[in-house]
Amino acid sequence: MDEALRIQQLRKQLETYAREYYIQDAPTVTDQEYDRLMHELEDLEAGHPELADPNSPTQRVIGAILPGFEKYTHARRMLSLGDIFSREELEEFVARVRKEFPGASFVAECKYDGLAMALHYEDGRFVRAVTRGDGLTGEVVTANVRTIRSVPMYIDAPGHVEVRGEVYMPKVSFERLNEVQTTLHLPLFANPRNAAAGSIRNLDTSVAASRNLEIFLYWYQNALEHGINTQARALEAMHAMGFPVNMDFAVCDTVDELWAFIEKTREKRSSLPYEIDGVVIKVNSLEQEEALGLNAKTPRYAIAYKYPAQEVQTRLDDIFLTIGRTGVATPNAVLTPVRVAGTLVSAASLHNEDLIRDRDLRIGDTVIIRKAGDIIPEVIASVKEQRDGTQVPYVFPDTCPVCGSELIRLPEEADHFCTNPDCPAQVLGSLIHFVSREAMNIDGLGEKKVCQLHEAHLLDTIQDIYHLAEKREEILALHGWSDKGFDKLLA
Ligand code: NAD
Repeated sequence: MDEALRIQQLRKQLETYAREYYIQDAPTVTDQEYDRLMHELEDLEAGHPELADPNSPTQRVIGAILPGFEKYTHARRMLSLGDIFSREELEEFVARVRKEFPGASFVAECKYDGLAMALHYEDGRFVRAVTRGDGLTGEVVTANVRTIRSVPMYIDAPGHVEVRGEVYMPKVSFERLNEVQTTLHLPLFANPRNAAAGSIRNLDTSVAASRNLEIFLYWYQNALEHGINTQARALEAMHAMGFPVNMDFAVCDTVDELWAFIEKTREKRSSLPYEIDGVVIKVNSLEQEEALGLNAKTPRYAIAYKYPAQEVQTRLDDIFLTIGRTGVATPNAVLTPVRVAGTLVSAASLHNEDLIRDRDLRIGDTVIIRKAGDIIPEVIASVKEQRDGTQVPYVFPDTCPVCGSELIRLPEEADHFCTNPDCPAQVLGSLIHFVSREAMNIDGLGEKKVCQLHEAHLLDTIQDIYHLAEKREEILALHGWSDKGFDKLLA
Protein backbone atom coordinates (compact mmCIF):
# COMPACT_ATOMS: atom_id res chain seq x y z
CA MET A 1 0.00 0.00 0.00
CA ASP A 2 1.01 3.59 -0.65
CA GLU A 3 2.81 4.74 2.52
CA ALA A 4 1.22 8.20 2.54
CA LEU A 5 -2.19 6.59 2.41
CA ARG A 6 -1.25 4.16 5.20
CA ILE A 7 -0.12 7.11 7.37
CA GLN A 8 -3.51 8.79 6.90
CA GLN A 9 -5.28 5.54 7.62
CA LEU A 10 -3.32 4.88 10.80
CA ARG A 11 -3.80 8.43 12.11
CA LYS A 12 -7.56 8.12 11.67
CA GLN A 13 -7.71 4.66 13.15
CA LEU A 14 -5.60 5.57 16.20
CA GLU A 15 -7.76 8.66 16.85
CA THR A 16 -10.86 6.48 16.84
CA TYR A 17 -9.28 3.93 19.19
CA ALA A 18 -8.08 6.70 21.51
CA ARG A 19 -11.58 8.19 21.63
CA GLU A 20 -13.06 4.82 22.56
CA TYR A 21 -10.36 4.25 25.17
CA TYR A 22 -10.08 7.68 26.80
CA ILE A 23 -13.55 9.17 26.31
CA GLN A 24 -15.87 6.19 26.31
CA ASP A 25 -13.65 4.04 28.57
CA ALA A 26 -14.58 1.15 26.26
CA PRO A 27 -11.68 0.09 24.02
CA THR A 28 -12.43 -2.14 21.04
CA VAL A 29 -8.83 -3.30 20.46
CA THR A 30 -6.15 -4.59 22.83
CA ASP A 31 -3.46 -2.22 24.12
CA GLN A 32 -0.86 -4.30 22.31
CA GLU A 33 -2.66 -3.81 19.02
CA TYR A 34 -2.91 -0.07 19.69
CA ASP A 35 0.80 0.11 20.57
CA ARG A 36 1.71 -1.92 17.47
CA LEU A 37 -0.21 0.45 15.18
CA MET A 38 1.32 3.48 16.95
CA HIS A 39 4.82 2.09 16.35
CA GLU A 40 3.98 1.39 12.72
CA LEU A 41 2.87 5.01 12.34
CA GLU A 42 6.02 6.31 14.10
CA ASP A 43 8.22 4.28 11.76
CA LEU A 44 6.37 5.46 8.65
CA GLU A 45 6.45 9.11 9.78
CA ALA A 46 10.18 8.84 10.46
CA GLY A 47 10.66 7.82 6.84
CA HIS A 48 8.45 10.64 5.54
CA PRO A 49 9.37 13.92 7.29
CA GLU A 50 7.54 15.78 4.51
CA LEU A 51 4.25 14.35 5.85
CA ALA A 52 4.82 15.54 9.45
CA ASP A 53 1.69 16.82 11.18
CA PRO A 54 1.51 18.27 14.71
CA ASN A 55 -2.01 16.80 14.97
CA SER A 56 -0.75 13.26 14.47
CA PRO A 57 -1.39 10.85 17.38
CA THR A 58 2.39 10.38 17.56
CA GLN A 59 2.89 14.07 18.36
CA ARG A 60 0.43 14.74 21.15
CA VAL A 61 -0.83 13.23 24.35
CA ILE A 62 -4.24 12.06 23.28
CA GLY A 63 -6.60 12.24 26.18
CA ALA A 64 -10.01 13.58 26.79
CA ILE A 65 -11.70 16.40 28.62
CA LEU A 66 -15.30 15.58 29.31
CA PRO A 67 -17.96 18.28 29.31
CA GLY A 68 -19.49 18.68 32.76
CA PHE A 69 -16.19 18.89 34.65
CA GLU A 70 -14.38 22.11 35.46
CA LYS A 71 -11.08 22.44 33.56
CA TYR A 72 -7.65 23.06 35.05
CA THR A 73 -4.42 23.92 33.27
CA HIS A 74 -1.47 21.96 34.68
CA ALA A 75 1.49 24.00 35.95
CA ARG A 76 3.73 21.45 34.24
CA ARG A 77 2.40 19.23 31.46
CA MET A 78 1.29 15.73 32.38
CA LEU A 79 2.95 13.46 29.89
CA SER A 80 2.69 10.04 28.46
CA LEU A 81 5.86 7.88 28.58
CA GLY A 82 7.94 6.54 25.74
CA ASP A 83 7.80 2.76 25.71
CA ILE A 84 10.46 0.13 25.22
CA PHE A 85 10.20 -3.65 24.98
CA SER A 86 13.72 -5.04 25.22
CA ARG A 87 16.96 -4.92 27.16
CA GLU A 88 18.70 -3.39 24.12
CA GLU A 89 16.27 -0.45 24.16
CA LEU A 90 16.87 -0.10 27.90
CA GLU A 91 20.62 0.05 27.24
CA GLU A 92 20.00 2.74 24.61
CA PHE A 93 17.92 4.80 27.04
CA VAL A 94 20.60 4.60 29.73
CA ALA A 95 23.29 5.49 27.17
CA ARG A 96 21.30 8.54 25.97
CA VAL A 97 21.00 9.85 29.54
CA ARG A 98 24.64 9.05 30.38
CA LYS A 99 25.80 10.96 27.32
CA GLU A 100 24.64 14.10 29.10
CA PHE A 101 25.11 12.92 32.69
CA PRO A 102 27.78 10.22 32.83
CA GLY A 103 27.21 9.53 36.53
CA ALA A 104 23.40 9.38 36.35
CA SER A 105 21.61 6.82 38.51
CA PHE A 106 18.05 5.61 38.01
CA VAL A 107 14.94 4.64 39.93
CA ALA A 108 12.83 1.66 38.81
CA GLU A 109 9.17 1.47 39.85
CA CYS A 110 6.15 -0.59 38.89
CA LYS A 111 4.03 0.83 36.09
CA TYR A 112 0.48 0.75 37.43
CA ASP A 113 -2.30 0.35 34.92
CA GLY A 114 -4.79 3.01 35.92
CA LEU A 115 -5.27 6.67 35.19
CA ALA A 116 -2.92 9.50 36.01
CA MET A 117 -4.03 12.01 38.63
CA ALA A 118 -2.59 15.20 40.09
CA LEU A 119 -3.40 16.03 43.73
CA HIS A 120 -3.03 19.61 44.94
CA TYR A 121 -2.58 20.72 48.57
CA GLU A 122 -2.47 24.25 49.98
CA ASP A 123 -0.97 24.68 53.43
CA GLY A 124 -1.62 21.05 54.20
CA ARG A 125 -5.20 20.94 52.90
CA PHE A 126 -6.36 18.85 49.93
CA VAL A 127 -7.85 21.33 47.46
CA ARG A 128 -8.00 19.74 44.04
CA ALA A 129 -7.59 16.58 41.97
CA VAL A 130 -7.05 16.89 38.22
CA THR A 131 -6.93 14.20 35.51
CA ARG A 132 -4.21 14.24 32.88
CA GLY A 133 -6.71 15.25 30.19
CA ASP A 134 -4.86 16.18 27.03
CA GLY A 135 -1.67 16.76 29.01
CA LEU A 136 -2.07 20.53 29.18
CA THR A 137 -5.55 20.77 30.64
CA GLY A 138 -7.33 18.22 32.78
CA GLU A 139 -10.70 17.74 34.42
CA VAL A 140 -11.21 18.69 38.06
CA VAL A 141 -12.48 15.53 39.74
CA THR A 142 -11.89 16.53 43.38
CA ALA A 143 -15.23 15.22 44.67
CA ASN A 144 -14.67 11.78 43.16
CA VAL A 145 -11.08 11.55 44.41
CA ARG A 146 -12.28 12.40 47.94
CA THR A 147 -14.07 9.04 47.86
CA ILE A 148 -10.69 7.25 47.65
CA ARG A 149 -10.12 6.53 51.30
CA SER A 150 -6.33 6.40 51.13
CA VAL A 151 -6.02 9.94 49.73
CA PRO A 152 -5.11 12.14 52.73
CA MET A 153 -7.27 15.23 53.15
CA TYR A 154 -4.57 16.87 55.31
CA ILE A 155 -0.81 16.58 55.10
CA ASP A 156 1.95 18.01 57.22
CA ALA A 157 3.54 20.33 54.64
CA PRO A 158 3.43 24.08 54.21
CA GLY A 159 2.64 26.00 51.04
CA HIS A 160 1.73 24.43 47.72
CA VAL A 161 2.31 20.72 47.20
CA GLU A 162 1.46 18.87 44.01
CA VAL A 163 1.87 15.11 43.83
CA ARG A 164 1.00 12.86 40.92
CA GLY A 165 0.14 9.24 40.76
CA GLU A 166 -2.11 6.56 39.37
CA VAL A 167 -5.68 5.84 40.44
CA TYR A 168 -6.33 2.15 40.01
CA MET A 169 -8.91 -0.49 40.76
CA PRO A 170 -7.56 -3.51 42.68
CA LYS A 171 -8.06 -6.83 40.87
CA VAL A 172 -10.63 -8.10 43.41
CA SER A 173 -12.72 -4.93 43.15
CA PHE A 174 -12.66 -5.23 39.38
CA GLU A 175 -13.85 -8.83 39.47
CA ARG A 176 -16.62 -7.95 41.91
CA LEU A 177 -17.67 -4.99 39.76
CA ASN A 178 -18.00 -7.16 36.67
CA GLU A 179 -19.98 -9.74 38.64
CA VAL A 180 -22.44 -6.98 39.55
CA GLN A 181 -22.53 -5.75 35.95
CA THR A 182 -23.37 -9.32 34.85
CA THR A 183 -26.22 -9.62 37.35
CA LEU A 184 -27.62 -6.30 36.19
CA HIS A 185 -27.20 -7.27 32.51
CA LEU A 186 -24.92 -4.25 32.02
CA PRO A 187 -21.89 -4.24 29.71
CA LEU A 188 -18.69 -5.58 31.31
CA PHE A 189 -15.60 -3.41 31.73
CA ALA A 190 -12.73 -4.47 29.50
CA ASN A 191 -10.05 -4.13 32.21
CA PRO A 192 -9.43 -2.51 35.62
CA ARG A 193 -7.92 0.58 33.97
CA ASN A 194 -11.06 1.40 32.02
CA ALA A 195 -13.22 0.62 35.02
CA ALA A 196 -11.17 3.01 37.20
CA ALA A 197 -11.28 5.76 34.57
CA GLY A 198 -15.02 5.35 34.08
CA SER A 199 -15.57 5.62 37.83
CA ILE A 200 -13.45 8.72 38.32
CA ARG A 201 -14.96 10.52 35.37
CA ASN A 202 -18.54 9.95 36.40
CA LEU A 203 -20.47 13.06 37.41
CA ASP A 204 -22.28 11.04 40.06
CA THR A 205 -19.87 10.86 43.05
CA SER A 206 -21.64 7.85 44.54
CA VAL A 207 -20.38 5.77 41.59
CA ALA A 208 -16.71 6.41 42.42
CA ALA A 209 -17.47 5.88 46.10
CA SER A 210 -18.88 2.42 45.43
CA ARG A 211 -15.92 1.22 43.38
CA ASN A 212 -13.11 0.76 45.93
CA LEU A 213 -10.50 2.75 44.07
CA GLU A 214 -6.92 3.11 45.27
CA ILE A 215 -4.01 5.35 44.38
CA PHE A 216 -0.20 5.13 44.25
CA LEU A 217 1.74 8.41 44.16
CA TYR A 218 4.95 8.41 42.12
CA TRP A 219 5.90 12.01 41.26
CA TYR A 220 6.43 14.89 43.68
CA GLN A 221 5.73 17.60 41.16
CA ASN A 222 7.34 20.53 43.02
CA ALA A 223 9.81 18.54 45.11
CA LEU A 224 12.77 20.83 44.30
CA GLU A 225 10.87 23.78 45.84
CA HIS A 226 10.69 21.71 49.03
CA GLY A 227 14.41 20.98 49.04
CA ILE A 228 14.16 17.40 47.72
CA ASN A 229 16.53 16.61 44.89
CA THR A 230 16.16 12.94 43.98
CA GLN A 231 13.26 10.76 42.89
CA ALA A 232 14.07 8.22 45.61
CA ARG A 233 13.89 10.92 48.29
CA ALA A 234 10.69 12.29 46.72
CA LEU A 235 9.06 8.85 47.05
CA GLU A 236 10.22 8.62 50.66
CA ALA A 237 8.99 12.16 51.41
CA MET A 238 5.55 11.45 49.95
CA HIS A 239 5.39 8.25 51.97
CA ALA A 240 6.33 10.18 55.12
CA MET A 241 3.58 12.75 54.38
CA GLY A 242 1.04 9.93 54.51
CA PHE A 243 0.50 9.28 50.81
CA PRO A 244 0.14 5.73 49.53
CA VAL A 245 3.51 5.10 47.88
CA ASN A 246 4.77 1.71 46.76
CA MET A 247 8.11 1.53 48.57
CA ASP A 248 9.12 -1.51 46.53
CA PHE A 249 11.24 0.55 44.14
CA ALA A 250 14.96 0.28 43.38
CA VAL A 251 17.75 2.79 42.94
CA CYS A 252 19.98 1.39 40.20
CA ASP A 253 23.40 2.32 38.87
CA THR A 254 23.65 -0.20 36.06
CA VAL A 255 21.55 -1.75 33.31
CA ASP A 256 22.01 -5.10 35.06
CA GLU A 257 20.42 -3.77 38.23
CA LEU A 258 17.52 -2.24 36.27
CA TRP A 259 17.03 -5.49 34.37
CA ALA A 260 17.07 -7.48 37.61
CA PHE A 261 14.22 -5.27 38.94
CA ILE A 262 12.28 -5.80 35.70
CA GLU A 263 12.73 -9.57 35.96
CA LYS A 264 11.87 -9.72 39.65
CA THR A 265 8.73 -7.67 39.04
CA ARG A 266 7.77 -9.85 36.07
CA GLU A 267 7.77 -12.88 38.37
CA LYS A 268 5.65 -11.15 41.00
CA ARG A 269 3.28 -9.57 38.53
CA SER A 270 0.43 -12.08 38.60
CA SER A 271 0.41 -12.27 42.39
CA LEU A 272 0.19 -8.50 42.92
CA PRO A 273 -3.28 -7.29 43.99
CA TYR A 274 -3.27 -4.66 41.23
CA GLU A 275 -2.54 -4.66 37.52
CA ILE A 276 0.83 -3.49 36.28
CA ASP A 277 1.87 -3.45 32.64
CA GLY A 278 5.54 -2.73 33.00
CA VAL A 279 8.27 -0.90 34.90
CA VAL A 280 8.96 2.84 34.76
CA ILE A 281 12.61 3.90 34.79
CA LYS A 282 13.38 7.46 35.87
CA VAL A 283 16.55 9.48 36.25
CA ASN A 284 17.10 9.76 40.00
CA SER A 285 18.46 13.32 40.17
CA LEU A 286 15.63 15.85 39.83
CA GLU A 287 18.09 18.47 38.58
CA GLN A 288 19.15 16.14 35.79
CA GLU A 289 15.47 15.45 35.15
CA GLU A 290 14.80 19.15 34.56
CA ALA A 291 17.84 19.53 32.35
CA LEU A 292 16.95 16.52 30.19
CA GLY A 293 13.51 17.94 29.41
CA LEU A 294 11.03 16.62 26.91
CA ASN A 295 10.47 15.16 23.46
CA ALA A 296 7.24 16.03 21.61
CA LYS A 297 4.95 14.22 24.04
CA THR A 298 7.19 12.13 26.26
CA PRO A 299 9.90 12.99 28.77
CA ARG A 300 13.57 12.32 28.03
CA TYR A 301 14.25 11.57 31.69
CA ALA A 302 11.95 8.54 32.02
CA ILE A 303 10.80 5.57 30.00
CA ALA A 304 8.36 2.70 30.39
CA TYR A 305 9.52 -0.85 29.86
CA LYS A 306 6.40 -2.79 28.89
CA TYR A 307 6.06 -6.53 29.39
CA PRO A 308 5.51 -8.43 26.16
CA ALA A 309 1.97 -8.90 25.01
CA GLN A 310 0.09 -11.68 26.72
CA GLU A 311 -2.92 -10.99 24.53
CA VAL A 312 -2.74 -10.09 20.87
CA GLN A 313 -5.04 -9.86 17.90
CA THR A 314 -4.80 -11.85 14.71
CA ARG A 315 -7.07 -13.30 12.03
CA LEU A 316 -8.91 -16.59 12.24
CA ASP A 317 -8.12 -17.83 8.73
CA ASP A 318 -9.80 -21.22 8.94
CA ILE A 319 -10.95 -24.03 11.19
CA PHE A 320 -9.94 -27.64 10.60
CA LEU A 321 -10.77 -30.88 12.41
CA THR A 322 -8.35 -33.41 13.86
CA ILE A 323 -9.42 -36.91 14.87
CA GLY A 324 -7.90 -38.33 18.03
CA ARG A 325 -7.23 -41.98 18.86
CA THR A 326 -10.60 -42.30 20.62
CA GLY A 327 -12.36 -40.79 17.59
CA VAL A 328 -12.96 -37.35 19.13
CA ALA A 329 -13.16 -34.67 16.42
CA THR A 330 -11.42 -31.52 17.67
CA PRO A 331 -11.78 -28.21 15.83
CA ASN A 332 -8.56 -26.18 15.51
CA ALA A 333 -8.02 -22.57 14.56
CA VAL A 334 -5.68 -21.68 11.72
CA LEU A 335 -4.37 -18.25 12.67
CA THR A 336 -2.38 -15.68 10.77
CA PRO A 337 0.94 -16.22 12.63
CA VAL A 338 1.51 -13.75 15.46
CA ARG A 339 3.92 -13.44 18.40
CA VAL A 340 2.44 -13.95 21.87
CA ALA A 341 4.56 -13.86 25.01
CA GLY A 342 7.70 -14.49 23.01
CA THR A 343 6.64 -17.30 20.64
CA LEU A 344 5.03 -17.45 17.21
CA VAL A 345 1.49 -18.82 17.29
CA SER A 346 -0.29 -20.04 14.16
CA ALA A 347 -2.81 -22.55 15.50
CA ALA A 348 -4.86 -23.15 18.61
CA SER A 349 -7.32 -25.80 19.74
CA LEU A 350 -10.94 -24.67 19.82
CA HIS A 351 -11.93 -27.79 21.82
CA ASN A 352 -15.52 -28.28 20.62
CA GLU A 353 -18.55 -26.89 18.84
CA ASP A 354 -19.92 -25.14 21.96
CA LEU A 355 -16.78 -23.07 22.44
CA ILE A 356 -16.93 -21.81 18.87
CA ARG A 357 -20.59 -20.91 19.30
CA ASP A 358 -20.20 -19.33 22.78
CA ARG A 359 -17.29 -17.16 21.67
CA ASP A 360 -19.04 -16.42 18.37
CA LEU A 361 -15.96 -17.19 16.29
CA ARG A 362 -16.38 -16.86 12.54
CA ILE A 363 -13.89 -17.64 9.80
CA GLY A 364 -12.29 -14.36 8.75
CA ASP A 365 -12.83 -12.77 12.18
CA THR A 366 -10.22 -10.71 13.95
CA VAL A 367 -9.71 -12.66 17.16
CA ILE A 368 -7.95 -12.07 20.46
CA ILE A 369 -5.56 -14.79 21.50
CA ARG A 370 -3.90 -15.28 24.83
CA LYS A 371 -1.35 -17.73 26.08
CA ALA A 372 -2.92 -19.54 28.99
CA GLY A 373 -0.31 -20.19 31.65
CA ASP A 374 2.17 -18.78 29.14
CA ILE A 375 2.21 -22.11 27.28
CA ILE A 376 -0.98 -23.04 25.43
CA PRO A 377 -2.45 -20.44 23.09
CA GLU A 378 -6.16 -19.84 23.45
CA VAL A 379 -8.63 -17.93 21.28
CA ILE A 380 -10.59 -15.91 23.82
CA ALA A 381 -12.90 -13.73 21.73
CA SER A 382 -13.76 -12.33 18.34
CA VAL A 383 -13.64 -8.59 17.72
CA LYS A 384 -17.14 -7.95 16.40
CA GLU A 385 -16.44 -4.29 15.68
CA GLN A 386 -13.99 -5.36 13.00
CA ARG A 387 -16.47 -7.46 11.03
CA ASP A 388 -17.14 -6.30 7.49
CA GLY A 389 -19.71 -8.84 6.41
CA THR A 390 -17.25 -11.29 4.85
CA GLN A 391 -16.95 -13.44 7.99
CA VAL A 392 -18.52 -16.87 7.78
CA PRO A 393 -20.05 -18.73 10.76
CA TYR A 394 -18.54 -22.20 11.18
CA VAL A 395 -20.80 -25.17 10.52
CA PHE A 396 -19.55 -28.30 12.28
CA PRO A 397 -19.04 -30.99 9.59
CA ASP A 398 -21.17 -34.13 9.72
CA THR A 399 -18.50 -36.39 8.19
CA CYS A 400 -14.99 -37.33 9.31
CA PRO A 401 -12.39 -35.40 7.29
CA VAL A 402 -10.09 -38.48 7.33
CA CYS A 403 -12.31 -41.48 6.50
CA GLY A 404 -15.59 -39.85 5.46
CA SER A 405 -17.66 -41.76 8.04
CA GLU A 406 -20.43 -40.06 9.96
CA LEU A 407 -19.54 -37.73 12.85
CA ILE A 408 -21.99 -37.89 15.72
CA ARG A 409 -22.54 -35.83 18.83
CA LEU A 410 -24.31 -37.68 21.62
CA PRO A 411 -26.81 -35.83 23.78
CA GLU A 412 -25.10 -34.41 26.92
CA GLU A 413 -21.67 -34.60 25.22
CA ALA A 414 -19.72 -31.60 24.02
CA ASP A 415 -17.59 -33.64 21.60
CA HIS A 416 -18.27 -35.06 18.16
CA PHE A 417 -16.95 -38.58 17.40
CA CYS A 418 -15.95 -40.40 14.24
CA THR A 419 -18.02 -43.59 14.22
CA ASN A 420 -15.51 -45.74 12.28
CA PRO A 421 -13.16 -47.74 14.60
CA ASP A 422 -10.88 -48.39 11.58
CA CYS A 423 -10.57 -44.69 10.78
CA PRO A 424 -6.87 -44.22 9.83
CA ALA A 425 -6.65 -41.18 12.11
CA GLN A 426 -7.82 -43.27 15.07
CA VAL A 427 -5.43 -46.08 14.14
CA LEU A 428 -2.50 -43.69 13.89
CA GLY A 429 -3.55 -42.02 17.14
CA SER A 430 -3.65 -45.40 18.87
CA LEU A 431 -0.19 -46.29 17.53
CA ILE A 432 1.27 -43.04 18.79
CA HIS A 433 -0.39 -43.52 22.14
CA PHE A 434 0.80 -47.15 22.39
CA VAL A 435 4.49 -46.28 21.98
CA SER A 436 4.27 -43.13 24.16
CA ARG A 437 5.78 -42.66 27.60
CA GLU A 438 2.35 -43.03 29.24
CA ALA A 439 1.90 -46.47 27.66
CA MET A 440 4.67 -48.87 26.46
CA ASN A 441 7.37 -46.17 26.49
CA ILE A 442 9.20 -47.58 23.45
CA ASP A 443 12.53 -45.80 23.13
CA GLY A 444 13.47 -44.74 19.59
CA LEU A 445 9.89 -44.78 18.27
CA GLY A 446 8.46 -41.32 18.75
CA GLU A 447 5.48 -39.66 17.09
CA LYS A 448 7.46 -38.60 13.98
CA LYS A 449 8.87 -42.09 13.37
CA VAL A 450 5.45 -43.71 13.85
CA CYS A 451 3.95 -41.31 11.27
CA GLN A 452 6.81 -42.01 8.86
CA LEU A 453 6.50 -45.82 9.13
CA HIS A 454 2.72 -45.61 8.95
CA GLU A 455 2.86 -43.52 5.78
CA ALA A 456 5.26 -46.07 4.24
CA HIS A 457 2.75 -48.85 5.16
CA LEU A 458 5.36 -50.55 7.34
CA LEU A 459 3.33 -49.99 10.52
CA ASP A 460 -0.44 -50.40 10.20
CA THR A 461 -1.35 -52.12 13.44
CA ILE A 462 0.01 -52.44 16.97
CA GLN A 463 1.07 -56.04 16.17
CA ASP A 464 3.30 -54.69 13.38
CA ILE A 465 5.50 -53.02 16.01
CA TYR A 466 6.70 -56.49 17.07
CA HIS A 467 7.54 -57.53 13.50
CA LEU A 468 9.68 -54.52 12.55
CA ALA A 469 12.84 -56.67 12.44
CA GLU A 470 11.43 -58.42 9.37
CA LYS A 471 11.27 -55.07 7.55
CA ARG A 472 14.86 -54.01 8.25
CA GLU A 473 15.85 -53.33 4.62
CA GLU A 474 12.78 -51.21 3.83
CA ILE A 475 13.10 -49.22 7.04
CA LEU A 476 16.82 -48.50 6.63
CA ALA A 477 16.04 -47.13 3.17
CA LEU A 478 13.90 -44.37 4.78
CA HIS A 479 15.26 -40.95 5.74
CA GLY A 480 16.73 -40.64 9.22
CA TRP A 481 17.40 -44.35 10.01
CA SER A 482 20.78 -45.96 10.71
CA ASP A 483 21.81 -49.54 11.59
CA LYS A 484 22.68 -48.40 15.08
CA GLY A 485 19.40 -46.58 15.64
CA PHE A 486 17.40 -49.51 14.30
CA ASP A 487 19.21 -52.01 16.56
CA LYS A 488 18.61 -49.77 19.53
CA LEU A 489 14.90 -49.71 18.73
CA LEU A 490 14.77 -53.51 18.44
CA ALA A 491 16.63 -53.87 21.75
P1 NAD B 1 1.16 4.66 29.13
O1 NAD B 1 0.05 4.09 29.92
O2 NAD B 1 1.82 3.72 28.23
O3 NAD B 1 2.27 5.32 30.08
C1 NAD B 1 2.19 6.57 30.68
C2 NAD B 1 1.44 6.55 31.96
O4 NAD B 1 1.97 5.60 32.85
C3 NAD B 1 1.55 7.82 32.75
O5 NAD B 1 0.69 8.80 32.26
C4 NAD B 1 1.14 7.36 34.12
O6 NAD B 1 -0.24 7.55 34.26
C5 NAD B 1 1.41 5.89 34.11
N1 NAD B 1 2.25 5.36 35.19
C6 NAD B 1 1.99 4.21 35.87
N2 NAD B 1 2.89 3.98 36.80
C7 NAD B 1 3.78 5.00 36.76
C8 NAD B 1 4.95 5.29 37.51
N3 NAD B 1 5.40 4.49 38.48
N4 NAD B 1 5.61 6.42 37.20
C9 NAD B 1 5.19 7.24 36.20
N5 NAD B 1 4.08 7.01 35.46
C10 NAD B 1 3.39 5.89 35.73
O7 NAD B 1 0.70 5.88 28.32
P2 NAD B 1 -0.69 6.56 28.23
O8 NAD B 1 -0.47 7.73 27.34
O9 NAD B 1 -1.33 6.74 29.54
O10 NAD B 1 -1.55 5.49 27.49
C11 NAD B 1 -1.17 5.03 26.27
C12 NAD B 1 -1.41 3.58 26.32
O11 NAD B 1 -2.78 3.34 26.51
C13 NAD B 1 -1.05 2.94 25.01
O12 NAD B 1 0.29 2.58 24.99
C14 NAD B 1 -2.01 1.79 24.97
O13 NAD B 1 -1.39 0.70 25.61
C15 NAD B 1 -3.18 2.28 25.75
N6 NAD B 1 -4.25 2.69 24.80
C16 NAD B 1 -5.04 1.73 24.35
C17 NAD B 1 -6.05 2.03 23.46
C18 NAD B 1 -6.94 0.93 22.98
O14 NAD B 1 -7.82 1.22 22.17
N7 NAD B 1 -6.76 -0.28 23.47
C19 NAD B 1 -6.24 3.34 23.03
C20 NAD B 1 -5.41 4.32 23.52
C21 NAD B 1 -4.40 3.98 24.42
